[in-house]
Amino acid sequence: MITAIILYCLPPPESGYRLNQILTKTQYDPDRGGYNLSLVRDWRRRAPARLPLHVHTTLEASIEGFLDTIEKIDKEYPIRNLRWTLIHLDQITPSQIERMKKLGMYTAMHTRPTIMGGIFNEIHGERSYSMPPLKMVQDSGITWGFGTDTTVVNQFRPFTTLYWVVTGKMVGGTQVLRQTISREDALTAHTRKNAYFHFQENNLGSIQPGKLADLVVLDRDYLTVPADQIKDIKPTMTMVGGKIVYDAAEAR
Ligand SMILES: [Zn+2]
Repeated sequence: MITAIILYCLPPPESGYRLNQILTKTQYDPDRGGYNLSLVRDWRRRAPARLPLHVHTTLEASIEGFLDTIEKIDKEYPIRNLRWTLIHLDQITPSQIERMKKLGMYTAMHTRPTIMGGIFNEIHGERSYSMPPLKMVQDSGITWGFGTDTTVVNQFRPFTTLYWVVTGKMVGGTQVLRQTISREDALTAHTRKNAYFHFQENNLGSIQPGKLADLVVLDRDYLTVPADQIKDIKPTMTMVGGKIVYDAAEAR
């Protein structure tokens, strides 16, 4: 259902940034309609076919280039309601978020600083503390959720992610993010909002009649536990489709 186009993602030590910078310089030509990659030509076929699109992009300049290109496509084939999404968005600016809202796009904020925040700080200095700018994105009102990028470049434990979002700390406890958000907003982005990226909002993301009973029972209350303990939360039971598939009491 979802077709992802993956651009510019490399494992450490490149972190995607150097390649991204190289491609930004060599492939982006605003006088010729934005990015000239062959993949972009495929995007022009996606809009009239009503297909979704996910594009990984990190730097301010590359986000700018993709938005220039997508705005041109939108003039020909409106993309609103197609759930076209830019992913990562480490350096997205307020004006770029507004452009995305106007287009009806979504944002997927990737959580690599949970393990790579120190590298980002070495490369980007002060700006790294707002990479990605979670609070700005949350306050903008755009539909957004979380992504891991891949398990090659990131960890995937949800409570490690939520610990970073709420406290700004990566694994090990170093502060790497200042744009933290509330526990409630973080949980909503990780559950209800993420369901939209899969066109599964009628089945997943919240516990409601008529939805799949995919859920976990936790060993402590995420909403009230001290923030530094969020990373330590463990499931005591897991249900998939209403069936218990893990029970900590039986696993002992
Ligand atoms: Zn990526």
